[in-house]
Amino acid sequence: MGQDDDLENQLRICTLECSARCCRYVTTSIEPPRATVDWDEIRWWLAHEGAMVTKDEDGWLLHVQTRCRHLLADNTCGIYDTRMMACEAHDAEACEFTGDLDYQVLLRSEADLADHLERRGLKRGAEVAKQIRKTARSRHNRPGGTASPPSE
Ligand code: SF4
Ligand code: SF4
Repeated sequence: MGQDDDLENQLRICTLECSARCCRYVTTSIEPPRATVDWDEIRWWLAHEGAMVTKDEDGWLLHVQTRCRHLLADNTCGIYDTRMMACEAHDAEACEFTGDLDYQVLLRSEADLADHLERRGLKRGAEVAKQIRKTARSRHNRPGGTASPPSE
């Protein structure tokens, strides 16, 4: 297969099969959580829709789902020639669609965080896990069983 065919094939995978998932979130590395306040901050992030916290061999990351403003309706990049360094560096052969991402920790919700803290028996996270469980119980017992909508 020639280089043009390779590029065309990659474009098909990115735009049609994957639907450009790497253009639909941002990430930032975070310090490894150690103190109660660090776990509590992770809880705060996870209380927000679209947030996720992971740890892999390179460390801890906060992910937030948010669509890039330069992503076009056909899932191509609207500023390809002047795109950011992070986009250019993204390896399409070992990405979240084509690669085998191996997370040591994957937290998508406060409940995931409480499970993680309890399973690991992390003393500095015990209070945070307790608060998460308490919140879940009180939400469950509330009429309607869900949280109030955000105030206007
Ligand atoms: S680089 Fe990977 S995650 Fe990004 S659009 Fe292509 S296949 Fe999808
Ligand atoms: S600038 Fe282009 S490649 Fe980078 S995230 Fe946005 S749409 Fe994707």
